[in-house]
Amino acid sequence: MNTENQGYPNFPARPPPSSSSPFASAPPPGVPPQSGGPESVGFRPHTRPFTPSGPPMAPPVGVMRPFQSPLVSQIPGQGIRPPPPPPSSNSFPSTAYGPPGGGSFQRFPTPPPPSGPPQTQTLAGHFSPPRQPMGPPPQSLTSGVPGGYASPPGTGFQQSMPPVNPSYPGVGGPQPSFPGYPSNQVTPVPFQSAPQGPPPSSYPPQTGGFSPHPGQQNLHPSYASPTSNVQGLAEDFNSLSLTNIPGSLEPGLDPALFPRPLDGDVEPNSFAEMYPMNCHSRYLRLTTSAIPSSQSLASRWHLPLGAVVCPLAEAPEGEEVTLIDFGSSGIIRCRRCRTYVNPYVTFTDSGRKWRCNICSMLNDVPGEYFSHLDATGRRMDLDQRPELTKGSVEIIAPTEYMVRPPMPPIYFFLIDVSFSAAKSGMLEVAAQTIKSCLDNLPGYPRTQIGFITYDSTLHFYNMKSSLSQPQMMVVSDLDDIFVPLPDDLLVNLSESRNVVEAFLDSLPLMFQNNVNVESAFGPALKAAYMVMNQLGGKLLIFQNSLPSLGAGRLKLRGDDPRVYGTDKEYTLRVAEDNFYKQMAADCTKFQIGINVYAFSDKYTDIASLGTLAKYTGGQVYYYPGFQSSIHGDKLRHELARDLTRETAWESVMRIRCGKGIRFSSYHGNFMLRSTDLIALPAVDCDKAYAMQLTLEETLLTTPTVYFQVALLYTASCGERRIRVHTAVAPVVTDLGEMYRQADTGSIASVYTRLAIEKTLSGKLDDARNAIQQKIVKALREYRNLHSVQHRLGSRLIYPESLKFLPLYGLAICKSTPLQGGPADASLDERCAAGFTMMALPVKNLLKLLYPNLFRVDEWLLKPSADLDDLKDVLRRVPLAAQSLDSSGLYIYDDGFRLVLWFGRMLSPDIAKNLLGTDFAAELSKVTLQEQENGMSKKLMKLIKKVRENDLSYHPMCFLVRQGEQPREGFLFLRHLTEDQMGGSTSYVDWILQIHRQVQQNA
Ligand SMILES: [Zn+2]
Repeated sequence: MNTENQGYPNFPARPPPSSSSPFASAPPPGVPPQSGGPESVGFRPHTRPFTPSGPPMAPPVGVMRPFQSPLVSQIPGQGIRPPPPPPSSNSFPSTAYGPPGGGSFQRFPTPPPPSGPPQTQTLAGHFSPPRQPMGPPPQSLTSGVPGGYASPPGTGFQQSMPPVNPSYPGVGGPQPSFPGYPSNQVTPVPFQSAPQGPPPSSYPPQTGGFSPHPGQQNLHPSYASPTSNVQGLAEDFNSLSLTNIPGSLEPGLDPALFPRPLDGDVEPNSFAEMYPMNCHSRYLRLTTSAIPSSQSLASRWHLPLGAVVCPLAEAPEGEEVTLIDFGSSGIIRCRRCRTYVNPYVTFTDSGRKWRCNICSMLNDVPGEYFSHLDATGRRMDLDQRPELTKGSVEIIAPTEYMVRPPMPPIYFFLIDVSFSAAKSGMLEVAAQTIKSCLDNLPGYPRTQIGFITYDSTLHFYNMKSSLSQPQMMVVSDLDDIFVPLPDDLLVNLSESRNVVEAFLDSLPLMFQNNVNVESAFGPALKAAYMVMNQLGGKLLIFQNSLPSLGAGRLKLRGDDPRVYGTDKEYTLRVAEDNFYKQMAADCTKFQIGINVYAFSDKYTDIASLGTLAKYTGGQVYYYPGFQSSIHGDKLRHELARDLTRETAWESVMRIRCGKGIRFSSYHGNFMLRSTDLIALPAVDCDKAYAMQLTLEETLLTTPTVYFQVALLYTASCGERRIRVHTAVAPVVTDLGEMYRQADTGSIASVYTRLAIEKTLSGKLDDARNAIQQKIVKALREYRNLHSVQHRLGSRLIYPESLKFLPLYGLAICKSTPLQGGPADASLDERCAAGFTMMALPVKNLLKLLYPNLFRVDEWLLKPSADLDDLKDVLRRVPLAAQSLDSSGLYIYDDGFRLVLWFGRMLSPDIAKNLLGTDFAAELSKVTLQEQENGMSKKLMKLIKKVRENDLSYHPMCFLVRQGEQPREGFLFLRHLTEDQMGGSTSYVDWILQIHRQVQQNA
């Protein structure tokens, strides 16, 4: 984060070339920025030398001849290219670009658009050439920023805050902010009732920014003491009675009593109650709200110690994050550790100083920010200072937080137009959807847009606003990619709106008869990178086949089941060619975030393609065997969401925490720019990140630990902003308290990410075993805590807070990235799910792990149709075949798919009402449509409501009838997490396995 860039009063353009890491620091102040192209691998610095100096172009009207050789020859390193052939109506620029008689050109004998003369002529007619000589590039944002710009530099940051927690001199002393605590407190008193604080009822109105109210702020009398006596433990744990004989159903084992998260994700609220000024848990969830005071305690916790952060989580209406402008005082931050002022800082010295809650530094209050304190030490202006009362705020960042003017929102599309892309209907749906979203792309009127399409050649589109129709240019030399007309490929949407619409209207027609099956994906990606790297932005890739030509071409390697179970197994799940990771690194460096949409029914090596999304903070959308009639709606909704959701551009995120602890590992889709700075070229509300904490010091001496997430980004409106989330958690000396304050949702989120990462370096089996072992160790430790005072017998005991953990652990093992073996999920499916799950926020992830299953036939027969709260209307049932009644109709919903399961004995009237004349047909051939009757309308309303509850993905609806095999098994039964299917373990057996292992060595 360049938040410490006081040395950048102006916009010094792009930081100098990096020699070491792709995220090299910015130049120190005063060092002139070096212009020049991307200093990254292998790409020719493409600095548009040809535009200003090229001779005026005056191509014949009506001919697509966008590019002339004199210009080409001036591209450094380009060499002399053959002069263009005499233009003719059929002379597509490929001839101009291709090597003389070049091989790749011959692959495309019919010049594109290859769909035959009718389309060609239409387009050729529409694409008029530039009507004026090419002048110098338009004076735009870029003109002052010769090289575009790289990531906000981390240098300044590191100067003030080394990546590794600095040792804060003088922090070991008393904590003035919490005078109620003895200084250097290590004894476990903190959570007994406040020694001198007022009663709890008085605490909500008080806010941060003052000190002398010990206890009041952070203590909650009802919070059980970690040292509560042994009797206090009597009711402290839950237990399941289990026999010791695995699989046996002897009395004592009642699966019906097993804990199940039928209410979905229930966030622990004790944390929020204790610290009402903490940010909401939708933004930050610790795996336990009780931080261990020592390394030895942490080592006995066995579960991950960390957090899940979703910095831009959607807030319900009325709870939006407040926007703050510090104006002339500048943003108030700690001089030493750069923490942003927050509700937990304290003001002293009659308001002239404030103490940092993270490092204890005493800072001066700038004159403009000064306020008198009242008798209780509270700032008089507190009610006008949301940053001192709210755990989440958004701060307008002044120019010191920029290394260039804030970039406009940029959407660039890289679209496969080969045979299968056109045939599947993908092209048409994508083009229509993009067109329908043009009014809603964030950032009007600054938004920019551009397109490249490709099959065996690359097709560029001049979208200059002075044109009435786009102009297509074809490049067929895949080995030496260059970008024709780089200034007119990425255009301002509002200025070029008509050209963009004309392009989107004609795109599906242009390629509808394309028979080209090749995919020059890698070269196309390089070209997109060259167009985008001046400014950055979002790159949306639509890929329908395995990249087959040029750099980054991939092999069919996914169909060898023999590799499974060997040490080589994991290699199938990682990118085959380093090209992908390197491209991702380059893109991140230049603020390009990539989303990959993949559509093929054949192997496309999602492991490699997804790498692009993984390291640029993006997302993978996978529609295997895409057919517009089946998957069209899903693509429409998901693409529309992707295009229109609020996006934070060119952002970086850092999470700070108090002395003695540090975040030591980060898990999700992003690239680390320095040891603790997460680079996120484009981030939105649907992305979450997990991280693990390490205690750096043997003992923590403070009673509490603070966390502060800061996301520095450019809003679509062009404002540079910092979103800040602050929270505090108590430090405890009692292991039991750590378990009591555990957050299963957060733990499952961290575990899922760790397990998926493990599949990228080892066997699936090992990843699954690791999950089980971690749960066993934690429960064994917990058992040992209680075994002295209690006769536990054959009971499995666990804290209330972790009652669902074993089940979620099982669900992780059964999730698509980790399940079974080669027969259980295709390699692409597995990898796509892995990329998706790495980014999911807690709620979405838990729903995917243990989906909703509810019965609807009885409800459909009732007259009322109130759907205000689905939970009241429909009760979830356990995810097991035993829950199913053959006379019922059930809906399965995991957030990605809906399955309507029709029991064999379901009343034919209901089936008729819902399916019309198709009611007896094979359900694989039936699409659910609204019928003219109340029951059908009621069901459709329910499905609509389910979809609206979570807009991040659009679940497709599948119909299946009981006994319709193998479809029933594939679509539905195998997703019943609690059952044993194929080689998988049932919930009962899983619990017994865990229990048996817990008892060993207990
Ligand atoms: Zn500080």
